[in-house]
Amino acid sequence: MRALALTAAAGPERLAVVELPVPALTAPDQVRIRMRAAALNHLDLFVAAGLPGVETTYPHVVGADGAGEVDAVGDAVRDFVPGDRVMINPGLSCGDCGYCRAGEESCCTRFALLGEHRGGAAAEYVVLPAANLARVPGAMPWPQAAAFSLATLTAWRMLTTRARVQPGESVLVWGAGGGVALAAIRIGALLGARIIATSGSAAKLAAARAAGAVEALDHSTHDVVAGVRALTGGLGADVVVDSVGERTWPASLRAMRRGGRLVICGATTGPNVSLDLRRLFWHQWSILGSTMGTRREYAEIVRLAHEGKLWPAVDRVVPLAAGAEAFARLARGEQTGKLVIEVAA
Ligand SMILES: [Zn+2]
Repeated sequence: MRALALTAAAGPERLAVVELPVPALTAPDQVRIRMRAAALNHLDLFVAAGLPGVETTYPHVVGADGAGEVDAVGDAVRDFVPGDRVMINPGLSCGDCGYCRAGEESCCTRFALLGEHRGGAAAEYVVLPAANLARVPGAMPWPQAAAFSLATLTAWRMLTTRARVQPGESVLVWGAGGGVALAAIRIGALLGARIIATSGSAAKLAAARAAGAVEALDHSTHDVVAGVRALTGGLGADVVVDSVGERTWPASLRAMRRGGRLVICGATTGPNVSLDLRRLFWHQWSILGSTMGTRREYAEIVRLAHEGKLWPAVDRVVPLAAGAEAFARLARGEQTGKLVIEVAA
Protein backbone atom coordinates (compact mmCIF):
# COMPACT_ATOMS: atom_id res chain seq x y z
CA MET A 1 0.00 0.00 0.00
CA ARG A 2 1.03 3.63 -0.48
CA ALA A 3 1.64 5.83 2.56
CA LEU A 4 3.14 9.22 3.38
CA ALA A 5 6.00 8.55 5.77
CA LEU A 6 9.20 9.86 7.30
CA THR A 7 11.52 7.52 5.45
CA ALA A 8 14.61 6.95 7.60
CA ALA A 9 14.70 9.61 10.33
CA ALA A 10 12.88 12.74 11.49
CA GLY A 11 13.02 15.86 9.32
CA PRO A 12 10.29 17.24 7.07
CA GLU A 13 12.63 16.85 4.06
CA ARG A 14 12.38 13.07 4.61
CA LEU A 15 8.62 12.97 3.97
CA ALA A 16 7.90 10.78 0.96
CA VAL A 17 5.32 8.39 -0.45
CA VAL A 18 6.52 4.87 0.32
CA GLU A 19 5.25 1.36 -0.43
CA LEU A 20 4.43 -0.69 2.70
CA PRO A 21 2.70 -4.03 3.36
CA VAL A 22 -1.06 -3.87 4.02
CA PRO A 23 -1.46 -4.26 7.82
CA ALA A 24 -3.29 -7.37 9.09
CA LEU A 25 -5.76 -7.60 11.97
CA THR A 26 -3.90 -8.86 15.07
CA ALA A 27 -6.70 -8.79 17.71
CA PRO A 28 -10.42 -9.67 17.63
CA ASP A 29 -11.52 -6.10 18.54
CA GLN A 30 -9.71 -4.53 15.56
CA VAL A 31 -10.97 -3.00 12.35
CA ARG A 32 -9.03 -2.40 9.14
CA ILE A 33 -9.95 0.84 7.38
CA ARG A 34 -9.43 1.59 3.70
CA MET A 35 -8.48 5.23 4.17
CA ARG A 36 -9.91 8.00 2.01
CA ALA A 37 -8.35 11.08 3.64
CA ALA A 38 -5.99 12.09 6.44
CA ALA A 39 -5.67 15.53 8.07
CA LEU A 40 -2.75 17.38 9.61
CA ASN A 41 -2.37 18.94 13.05
CA HIS A 42 0.48 20.86 14.68
CA LEU A 43 1.34 17.56 16.33
CA ASP A 44 2.40 16.28 12.89
CA LEU A 45 4.93 19.11 12.57
CA PHE A 46 6.45 18.17 15.93
CA VAL A 47 6.58 14.51 14.85
CA ALA A 48 8.22 15.44 11.54
CA ALA A 49 10.80 17.56 13.38
CA GLY A 50 11.54 14.66 15.78
CA LEU A 51 10.10 14.43 19.28
CA PRO A 52 12.59 13.89 22.09
CA GLY A 53 11.59 10.92 24.23
CA VAL A 54 9.36 9.28 21.61
CA GLU A 55 10.86 6.12 20.14
CA THR A 56 10.10 5.95 16.43
CA THR A 57 10.65 3.17 13.92
CA TYR A 58 11.09 4.09 10.26
CA PRO A 59 9.48 4.38 7.84
CA HIS A 60 7.00 6.18 10.13
CA VAL A 61 3.58 6.87 8.60
CA VAL A 62 2.38 10.38 9.56
CA GLY A 63 -1.04 11.84 10.26
CA ALA A 64 -3.13 11.69 13.45
CA ASP A 65 -6.52 12.30 11.85
CA GLY A 66 -8.34 10.41 9.14
CA ALA A 67 -11.44 8.79 7.74
CA GLY A 68 -12.27 5.91 5.42
CA GLU A 69 -14.35 2.80 4.84
CA VAL A 70 -14.30 -0.32 6.98
CA ASP A 71 -12.46 -3.00 5.03
CA ALA A 72 -12.26 -5.94 7.51
CA VAL A 73 -13.40 -6.55 11.10
CA GLY A 74 -12.20 -8.88 13.88
CA ASP A 75 -14.43 -11.61 15.35
CA ALA A 76 -15.38 -9.52 18.41
CA VAL A 77 -16.44 -6.41 16.46
CA ARG A 78 -20.21 -5.89 16.60
CA ASP A 79 -20.66 -2.19 15.75
CA PHE A 80 -19.14 -2.06 12.26
CA VAL A 81 -19.33 -4.01 9.02
CA PRO A 82 -17.27 -3.69 5.83
CA GLY A 83 -18.32 -0.63 3.84
CA ASP A 84 -19.23 1.54 6.85
CA ARG A 85 -17.90 5.13 6.60
CA VAL A 86 -15.85 5.83 9.73
CA MET A 87 -13.68 8.53 11.25
CA ILE A 88 -10.92 7.97 13.77
CA ASN A 89 -10.49 9.09 17.38
CA PRO A 90 -6.66 9.23 17.39
CA GLY A 91 -6.25 8.78 21.16
CA LEU A 92 -5.20 5.20 21.98
CA SER A 93 -5.70 4.15 25.61
CA CYS A 94 -4.99 0.83 27.35
CA GLY A 95 -8.50 0.25 28.75
CA ASP A 96 -6.97 -1.28 31.86
CA CYS A 97 -5.27 1.37 34.04
CA GLY A 98 -7.07 3.25 36.81
CA TYR A 99 -7.68 6.27 34.59
CA CYS A 100 -9.16 4.16 31.80
CA ARG A 101 -11.40 2.27 34.24
CA ALA A 102 -12.60 5.68 35.54
CA GLY A 103 -13.40 6.82 31.98
CA GLU A 104 -10.49 9.29 31.91
CA GLU A 105 -8.83 7.77 28.84
CA SER A 106 -6.78 10.87 27.92
CA CYS A 107 -5.01 10.53 31.32
CA CYS A 108 -4.18 6.84 30.53
CA THR A 109 -0.71 5.92 31.78
CA ARG A 110 -0.05 4.30 28.36
CA PHE A 111 -1.84 7.00 26.31
CA ALA A 112 -0.61 7.16 22.72
CA LEU A 113 -1.55 9.08 19.62
CA LEU A 114 -1.98 7.80 16.11
CA GLY A 115 0.82 9.23 13.96
CA GLU A 116 2.99 10.05 16.97
CA HIS A 117 3.63 6.95 19.10
CA ARG A 118 2.59 4.59 16.30
CA GLY A 119 2.09 4.75 12.54
CA GLY A 120 -0.51 7.25 11.37
CA ALA A 121 -3.49 7.78 9.11
CA ALA A 122 -1.86 8.91 5.85
CA ALA A 123 -1.85 5.39 4.43
CA GLU A 124 -4.16 3.34 2.22
CA TYR A 125 -4.94 0.98 5.13
CA VAL A 126 -4.92 1.49 8.91
CA VAL A 127 -5.77 -1.05 11.65
CA LEU A 128 -7.30 0.26 14.90
CA PRO A 129 -9.48 -0.93 17.79
CA ALA A 130 -13.20 -0.55 16.96
CA ALA A 131 -13.51 1.62 20.11
CA ASN A 132 -11.53 4.32 18.27
CA LEU A 133 -14.01 4.60 15.40
CA ALA A 134 -17.22 6.54 14.88
CA ARG A 135 -19.67 6.66 12.01
CA VAL A 136 -19.30 9.61 9.62
CA PRO A 137 -22.51 11.67 9.27
CA GLY A 138 -24.20 10.81 5.97
CA ALA A 139 -23.77 14.23 4.38
CA MET A 140 -20.23 14.90 5.65
CA PRO A 141 -17.62 14.81 2.87
CA TRP A 142 -14.39 12.83 3.39
CA PRO A 143 -12.14 15.88 3.95
CA GLN A 144 -14.33 17.22 6.79
CA ALA A 145 -14.63 13.71 8.27
CA ALA A 146 -10.83 13.31 8.19
CA ALA A 147 -10.32 16.74 9.79
CA PHE A 148 -12.96 16.44 12.50
CA SER A 149 -11.64 14.43 15.41
CA LEU A 150 -8.42 15.67 16.99
CA ALA A 151 -9.08 19.42 16.95
CA THR A 152 -12.77 19.17 17.83
CA LEU A 153 -12.19 16.69 20.65
CA THR A 154 -9.32 18.77 22.07
CA ALA A 155 -11.35 21.99 22.00
CA TRP A 156 -14.45 20.26 23.39
CA ARG A 157 -12.65 18.97 26.50
CA MET A 158 -10.93 22.35 26.97
CA LEU A 159 -14.17 24.35 26.96
CA THR A 160 -16.59 21.89 28.59
CA THR A 161 -14.91 19.52 31.05
CA ARG A 162 -11.91 21.71 31.90
CA ALA A 163 -12.95 25.40 31.68
CA ARG A 164 -16.71 24.74 32.15
CA VAL A 165 -17.71 27.62 29.90
CA GLN A 166 -21.17 28.99 30.74
CA PRO A 167 -23.70 30.82 28.55
CA GLY A 168 -22.96 34.54 28.44
CA GLU A 169 -19.31 34.21 29.48
CA SER A 170 -16.60 35.92 27.46
CA VAL A 171 -13.97 33.62 25.94
CA LEU A 172 -10.75 34.84 24.32
CA VAL A 173 -9.38 32.47 21.63
CA TRP A 174 -5.90 33.16 20.23
CA GLY A 175 -4.81 32.40 16.65
CA ALA A 176 -8.08 31.82 14.82
CA GLY A 177 -6.56 30.06 11.79
CA GLY A 178 -5.66 26.88 13.65
CA GLY A 179 -7.89 23.84 13.81
CA VAL A 180 -8.24 23.79 17.62
CA ALA A 181 -8.88 27.55 17.77
CA LEU A 182 -11.60 27.39 15.10
CA ALA A 183 -13.18 24.40 16.85
CA ALA A 184 -13.02 26.30 20.17
CA ILE A 185 -14.82 29.25 18.57
CA ARG A 186 -17.52 26.95 17.18
CA ILE A 187 -17.94 25.14 20.52
CA GLY A 188 -17.93 28.36 22.58
CA ALA A 189 -20.63 29.84 20.35
CA LEU A 190 -22.65 26.60 20.67
CA LEU A 191 -22.37 26.88 24.47
CA GLY A 192 -23.75 30.42 24.32
CA ALA A 193 -20.48 32.17 25.18
CA ARG A 194 -19.32 35.47 23.70
CA ILE A 195 -16.21 34.66 21.67
CA ILE A 196 -13.41 37.16 21.13
CA ALA A 197 -10.95 35.73 18.57
CA THR A 198 -7.57 37.02 17.43
CA SER A 199 -5.49 36.54 14.30
CA GLY A 200 -2.89 38.40 12.29
CA SER A 201 -4.68 37.90 8.97
CA ALA A 202 -7.93 39.28 7.55
CA ALA A 203 -8.90 35.90 6.04
CA LYS A 204 -8.50 34.15 9.39
CA LEU A 205 -10.47 36.87 11.20
CA ALA A 206 -13.27 36.37 8.66
CA ALA A 207 -13.12 32.60 9.31
CA ALA A 208 -13.34 33.28 13.05
CA ARG A 209 -16.49 35.36 12.53
CA ALA A 210 -17.95 32.68 10.28
CA ALA A 211 -17.30 30.11 13.02
CA GLY A 212 -19.21 32.22 15.55
CA ALA A 213 -16.83 34.81 17.05
CA VAL A 214 -18.66 38.06 17.83
CA GLU A 215 -15.42 40.03 18.03
CA ALA A 216 -12.26 39.49 15.98
CA LEU A 217 -9.08 41.38 16.88
CA ASP A 218 -6.05 41.69 14.58
CA HIS A 219 -3.22 40.89 16.99
CA SER A 220 -0.62 42.21 14.54
CA THR A 221 -2.02 45.75 14.74
CA HIS A 222 -4.04 45.82 18.00
CA ASP A 223 -3.29 45.51 21.70
CA VAL A 224 -5.34 42.37 22.45
CA VAL A 225 -5.38 42.98 26.21
CA ALA A 226 -6.77 46.50 25.78
CA GLY A 227 -9.25 45.19 23.20
CA VAL A 228 -10.52 42.42 25.51
CA ARG A 229 -10.83 44.83 28.44
CA ALA A 230 -12.75 47.31 26.29
CA LEU A 231 -15.13 44.52 25.22
CA THR A 232 -15.69 43.23 28.79
CA GLY A 233 -16.41 46.43 30.70
CA GLY A 234 -12.80 46.67 31.84
CA LEU A 235 -12.93 43.28 33.63
CA GLY A 236 -11.16 40.89 31.26
CA ALA A 237 -12.27 37.58 29.76
CA ASP A 238 -13.84 34.82 31.88
CA VAL A 239 -11.91 32.17 29.93
CA VAL A 240 -8.77 32.31 27.77
CA VAL A 241 -8.04 29.49 25.29
CA ASP A 242 -4.33 29.35 24.45
CA SER A 243 -2.28 26.88 22.44
CA VAL A 244 0.38 29.42 21.39
CA GLY A 245 2.56 29.26 24.51
CA GLU A 246 5.48 31.59 25.22
CA ARG A 247 4.45 34.36 22.84
CA THR A 248 0.92 34.85 24.22
CA TRP A 249 1.35 33.82 27.88
CA PRO A 250 1.85 37.34 29.40
CA ALA A 251 -1.10 38.76 27.44
CA SER A 252 -3.27 35.71 28.24
CA LEU A 253 -2.80 36.45 31.96
CA ARG A 254 -3.42 40.19 31.59
CA ALA A 255 -6.54 39.61 29.43
CA MET A 256 -8.14 37.38 32.11
CA ARG A 257 -10.56 38.69 34.74
CA ARG A 258 -10.32 37.96 38.47
CA GLY A 259 -11.46 34.39 38.98
CA GLY A 260 -10.79 33.68 35.30
CA ARG A 261 -9.68 30.36 33.78
CA LEU A 262 -6.78 29.94 31.37
CA VAL A 263 -6.92 26.63 29.51
CA ILE A 264 -3.91 25.36 27.56
CA CYS A 265 -3.57 22.46 25.11
CA GLY A 266 -0.33 23.32 23.35
CA ALA A 267 2.74 25.54 23.19
CA THR A 268 3.53 26.06 19.52
CA THR A 269 5.87 29.04 20.18
CA GLY A 270 7.67 27.41 23.11
CA PRO A 271 6.94 25.85 26.50
CA ASN A 272 8.81 28.02 29.04
CA VAL A 273 6.91 30.80 30.82
CA SER A 274 7.09 32.55 34.18
CA LEU A 275 4.34 33.19 36.68
CA ASP A 276 4.22 35.60 39.62
CA LEU A 277 2.43 33.47 42.22
CA ARG A 278 1.17 36.61 43.98
CA ARG A 279 -0.83 37.49 40.87
CA LEU A 280 -2.15 33.89 40.64
CA PHE A 281 -3.63 33.86 44.15
CA TRP A 282 -4.61 37.52 44.33
CA HIS A 283 -6.57 37.32 41.07
CA GLN A 284 -7.80 33.79 41.97
CA TRP A 285 -6.99 32.46 38.52
CA SER A 286 -7.28 28.82 37.47
CA ILE A 287 -4.66 27.56 35.00
CA LEU A 288 -5.85 24.36 33.35
CA GLY A 289 -4.03 21.87 31.15
CA SER A 290 -5.95 19.76 28.67
CA THR A 291 -5.05 16.93 26.29
CA MET A 292 -7.32 15.26 23.73
CA GLY A 293 -10.48 13.85 25.35
CA THR A 294 -12.27 10.82 26.72
CA ARG A 295 -14.45 8.29 24.87
CA ARG A 296 -17.52 9.90 26.45
CA GLU A 297 -16.42 13.33 25.17
CA TYR A 298 -15.74 11.87 21.72
CA ALA A 299 -19.26 10.39 21.66
CA GLU A 300 -20.61 13.85 22.55
CA ILE A 301 -18.89 15.61 19.64
CA VAL A 302 -19.82 12.80 17.22
CA ARG A 303 -23.48 13.21 18.24
CA LEU A 304 -23.22 16.96 17.56
CA ALA A 305 -21.57 16.27 14.18
CA HIS A 306 -24.54 14.04 13.30
CA GLU A 307 -26.78 17.02 14.14
CA GLY A 308 -24.82 19.07 11.58
CA LYS A 309 -22.83 20.98 14.22
CA LEU A 310 -19.08 21.49 14.74
CA TRP A 311 -18.08 20.54 11.19
CA PRO A 312 -14.52 21.72 10.58
CA ALA A 313 -13.44 24.23 7.96
CA VAL A 314 -11.04 22.73 5.42
CA ASP A 315 -8.22 24.93 4.12
CA ARG A 316 -7.30 22.72 1.15
CA VAL A 317 -7.13 19.11 0.01
CA VAL A 318 -3.92 17.81 -1.57
CA PRO A 319 -3.07 14.38 -3.04
CA LEU A 320 -0.81 11.99 -1.10
CA ALA A 321 2.12 12.85 -3.38
CA ALA A 322 1.85 16.54 -2.33
CA GLY A 323 1.65 15.74 1.39
CA ALA A 324 5.04 17.33 2.11
CA GLU A 325 3.75 20.62 0.65
CA ALA A 326 0.81 20.53 3.07
CA PHE A 327 3.30 20.13 5.94
CA ALA A 328 5.21 23.18 4.64
CA ARG A 329 2.02 25.27 4.42
CA LEU A 330 1.13 24.31 8.00
CA ALA A 331 4.67 25.16 9.18
CA ARG A 332 4.36 28.61 7.58
CA GLY A 333 1.00 29.14 9.35
CA GLU A 334 -0.74 30.02 6.08
CA GLN A 335 -3.73 27.74 6.54
CA THR A 336 -7.22 28.79 7.56
CA GLY A 337 -8.79 25.58 8.81
CA LYS A 338 -7.56 22.06 8.25
CA LEU A 339 -5.09 20.74 5.70
CA VAL A 340 -6.28 17.45 4.29
CA ILE A 341 -4.37 14.78 2.37
CA GLU A 342 -6.47 12.73 -0.02
CA VAL A 343 -5.29 9.13 0.31
CA ALA A 344 -7.69 7.59 -2.23
CA ALA A 345 -10.13 9.30 -4.61
ZN1 LIG B 1 -5.15 3.25 30.48
